[in-house]
Amino acid sequence: YTLYRVDGWGKPYFAVNPAGNISVRTHGQDTFPSQDIDLMDVVNKVTDPISDGGLGLCAPFIVRFPEILKHRLESLQSAFNSAVSSHGYGAHYQGVYPVKCNQDRFIVEDIVKFGKPFRFGLEAGSKAELLLAMHCLCKGSPDALLVCNGFKDAEYISLALLSRKLAFNTVVVFEQEEELNLVIELSKKLNVRPVVGIRAKLRTMHSGHYGSTSGEKGKFGLTTTQILRIVGKLGQEGMLNCLQLLHFHIGSQIPTTALVADSASEAAQIYCELVRLGASMQVIDVGGGLGIDYDGSKSPHSDVSVSYTLEEYAATIVGTLMSVCDQRSIKHPVISSESGRATVSHHTILIFEAFSSSSNEHSYSAMSARILNIENFLDSLGGEARADYKSLVAAAGRGENGACLHHADRLKQHTVRRFKQGGLTMEQLAAVDGLHSMVSGAAGQPSSQAPVHTYRVNLSIFTSIPNYWGTGHLFPIMPIHHLDHRPTVRGVITDLTCDSDGKLATYIGGESSLPLHELDGKKCGRYYLGMFLGGAYEEAQDGLHNMFGGPNVVRLETDAGSPQGFMVTRLLPGPSCGDLLRSLRHEPECMVETFKSRAKELGMENGELGGSAAETLTGGLARFFASWPYLVAT
Ligand code: PLP
Repeated sequence: YTLYRVDGWGKPYFAVNPAGNISVRTHGQDTFPSQDIDLMDVVNKVTDPISDGGLGLCAPFIVRFPEILKHRLESLQSAFNSAVSSHGYGAHYQGVYPVKCNQDRFIVEDIVKFGKPFRFGLEAGSKAELLLAMHCLCKGSPDALLVCNGFKDAEYISLALLSRKLAFNTVVVFEQEEELNLVIELSKKLNVRPVVGIRAKLRTMHSGHYGSTSGEKGKFGLTTTQILRIVGKLGQEGMLNCLQLLHFHIGSQIPTTALVADSASEAAQIYCELVRLGASMQVIDVGGGLGIDYDGSKSPHSDVSVSYTLEEYAATIVGTLMSVCDQRSIKHPVISSESGRATVSHHTILIFEAFSSSSNEHSYSAMSARILNIENFLDSLGGEARADYKSLVAAAGRGENGACLHHADRLKQHTVRRFKQGGLTMEQLAAVDGLHSMVSGAAGQPSSQAPVHTYRVNLSIFTSIPNYWGTGHLFPIMPIHHLDHRPTVRGVITDLTCDSDGKLATYIGGESSLPLHELDGKKCGRYYLGMFLGGAYEEAQDGLHNMFGGPNVVRLETDAGSPQGFMVTRLLPGPSCGDLLRSLRHEPECMVETFKSRAKELGMENGELGGSAAETLTGGLARFFASWPYLVAT
């Protein structure tokens, strides 16, 4: 369905089916048997009342497909495996998942489970992330890496060192030089032999949307001078053999393989130098940056696309590392990557509902005509306005639409001016607006100027698409049904928050509106839209603007035995009003008591409302703490 470029960004997981709905192919389209799940069947299952076999939930909700996650992990591993074998590379690939991309327990647990056969590990960037990574990795491969990145204090380093006592394959990666002394001191104190890595600040600059922190002046990593000082100090302490990993990360969503090669080649030289200086180097961790194609353009010039495939990415890294190491006669290192976005984005779809729409169009009715024809109305506007009205009527008689529009524009300007001065009624203003809309319609304005409808959706952009608001990141958003009918209007999506930023003003391809189906008077019924490829970062960075919490989450798996071909494996309800209040330190139980006392003070207990009124009233209020913060369909 070219209108929304599904063929570009959706492959191999999403497509439009003959019923005009989005289908999900959890094993990728080439896999046999290809079992499609109709997303509208999922919507019905989630929103149908429990009495009808549904889950009785409201939108917005997130649907997760762990099978897609598994397919992503396997595809990443197999891309590297193929590159390793086709190049004759002398070591293997074992990736880690950076939990910051989405720390949801079930996602991380799944990654550990699915990745166990190929030693997949985790990356943490804080103490809390390290705790969850340690817990999840208890069920993982004993060889999986546990990479500790980020700024560290004594507690973080102690925890990382203790995790080695628990036989985790933990590597403390120095983000700052100061961390070295802490590691030396604490490892002696705790009697642990640490394994450490260095995050290098590469000179290679990432030119894309997320590249601003790369390069020599970038925020992260250690300079050449700092690396040399660390190597020197480790040598003095007899700990140079603890240095085993080199890490770099030039930013997310790297646009081209040329940039991938450039950074890998620079890092490989540093790796070889560390070997020369006596470190026991084993692993090169190429960080994140493996991008995905959000707009389906496959263009290196788009901020939200990349011009390479997984296979090309893996081949570039393997080929580049191999060529540098061979030139320097250095043993090929184990390759790790911290690919977050490319791993978790696809398996999550956010589904939300448009509950109303409106346009700025004004209607021209018989009443408008009557108002305009009242002599003194036009007189009250002054001579120029009257002349414009007369010219408009004359031009209409000659069928000159362009001239009509010109005079209608001027008439509208006079009218607005006069209204601001207090000289007109709202009915008169509306009549001129209606006339103007009618004339512009007849003049057949180009579609870019045609009225764009506002679609209000039951969603908070701040909570569910924070990176659109914060960084301008664009995601594919489209209706998930009615795709067998061409949309007839263009719309702009606005959310529930009372904030003007709660609006999606740009869509993939740089469009300022989205083709949508009309809501009013159509057989459309409920109108559901989906935001795709949002599994990474959006939930981890969400905000509580206006106290709309995270959506409900539903996890699904294909099930050939069920009529719709899927089964719900887990349901995770989003926070209620009470949960949200509690998260901000309000106390729902005390609040209910306060309402009760207030009702008593107002004499509701045994006053004119009767003895049980206070209970009824406060009981009724208590119910709202359990309610869904978003709009509930009635
Ligand atoms: N590793 C580090 C150190 C990061 O800062 C990030 C995020 O930018 C990642 C890995 C994940 O990157 P991506 O999601 O592009 O794979």
